[in-house]
Amino acid sequence: MAKATKTIRQALHYPPQYAAYFAANQVLFNRVVAFYFDCIQAHEGLLALKNKEALTALEKLTHGTGANPHPIMPLTDLAPDIPAMFRRAAINAALGSARAFSSSLKTWRARKQKHEAKQTRLGGKKKPFKERPPVPPRSWNKSVPFYASLWRERHMHCIVLKVWTGSCWSWLKVHILSRDLPDGYAMGSPQLVRKGDRWWLHTPIEKTFEAPAKSGEQLTTAQTRLCAVDLNLDKHLAVCSVQTVDGTILATSFIGNGAAVSGCRKQLLGRIARNRSQTGLIAENEQDNADLWAKIRHVDEQIAHLVSARIVQFASEHKASILVFEHLGTLQPEKGTYSRRSNTKRAYWMKGRMFRYATYKAWNAGGIITCRVNPRNTSRECHRCHAAVIRYNQGHPVEGYTPGAALCLCPQCQMRDHADRNASLRIGQRLIERTQEPLKEKPHARSQRAKRESKDSGVGISQDAKRQMGPSLPAARRGDHANGDGTPQGRRRRMGASLPDIASQLRVHFE
Ligand SMILES: [Zn+2]
Repeated sequence: MAKATKTIRQALHYPPQYAAYFAANQVLFNRVVAFYFDCIQAHEGLLALKNKEALTALEKLTHGTGANPHPIMPLTDLAPDIPAMFRRAAINAALGSARAFSSSLKTWRARKQKHEAKQTRLGGKKKPFKERPPVPPRSWNKSVPFYASLWRERHMHCIVLKVWTGSCWSWLKVHILSRDLPDGYAMGSPQLVRKGDRWWLHTPIEKTFEAPAKSGEQLTTAQTRLCAVDLNLDKHLAVCSVQTVDGTILATSFIGNGAAVSGCRKQLLGRIARNRSQTGLIAENEQDNADLWAKIRHVDEQIAHLVSARIVQFASEHKASILVFEHLGTLQPEKGTYSRRSNTKRAYWMKGRMFRYATYKAWNAGGIITCRVNPRNTSRECHRCHAAVIRYNQGHPVEGYTPGAALCLCPQCQMRDHADRNASLRIGQRLIERTQEPLKEKPHARSQRAKRESKDSGVGISQDAKRQMGPSLPAARRGDHANGDGTPQGRRRRMGASLPDIASQLRVHFE
């Protein structure tokens, strides 16, 4: 079984005095966590145990019962009548931190040992090992999880939480704003999280579903549908097309208005540049133009989420079970003004972000898997006959290859299409070709992959066409480089959120 997990964040509505209670509750929780962290440091053997056994051992050390009236380090010294589940949540948090600390200490010791061994081997004057050892946390600021029995009566718009108010334990009813928990998920323990001066409820949820077959297996079925995505820096941010393994093209979608996004971003960057030139010096360790930068970040983040959500929505509408992307090429540095250079850089970053978001969203949308293919020449080859295409703009002469132009024409088979749609179809075909050519099968070993790709570039292209593509060295190099990144990354799965409703907010153009 496969798992999809994410966290639902809900804003809360409560009387103003509750904020102080929540803060007091968190302070107490962190004191208990710190207490258990020290406990574990004093009994290092505990970390060798599994979490459950360690928890029992720690309770024996600290919690007095009828059978165990005099624990060694009683928790009651710290605070009386702490609820059992509160204590357990703190123990688990402390165990997590202690494990993290001990493993980083272990790697530090290993590095130190290695350094010393090297020094003795080399002889001569010894260089001291300068790296400082990791230190245990000095302050604690963990959010409080509410295990079962610390909360009750969770309805659509409210929940009752057991909270230490600073003087007593009491049940507080808080109202939940924002979206409900989606159906079909198992709920984990909610957490009270402070964001600025407001408190939010974070609820992890989890869904299990049947694990999808690997892409190689899926591609042996002729009816498997794949959604290939061509990500662009301008105009349409993403062009998706759905096709079956046997080559039937089912649908295309042009997503996002890249020109508007890039125009907005460039304007903001231009303002930053002007502000900077007027100020002259920029203070060290201080973010200049903080508001403008925040705005740029938010625009990028928001658009990446909307576009990726829309890609996944489109893929699942058409029942595609595989998403195909290109490997990201290296960033082509651009000349020009500050705003122009930074704008391209950010557009490029956003491309990577859209891929990452689409990957986890697709997985959460019921196990759609993601693959990546070599980007070499995907936009230069005809999706019908694989010959080199002519790429031109509307109203311009139909000849040559203009990068970024909207239209393409294949001189061999007279295919006319939108250039990005053609590219997305080629991307999908790349993945299919991978399984269909016996020589190209084994995609895992690095050397074999390199060999495969070099053949790949020649497949279906006449010598003539190859020569035509000669001058496109940057593109070819980009392809080769991306190739080195390796296929396994293409299947990397991320989780955390699902297909949100916001996708519909994005203006979409259907062909
Ligand atoms: Zn053609």
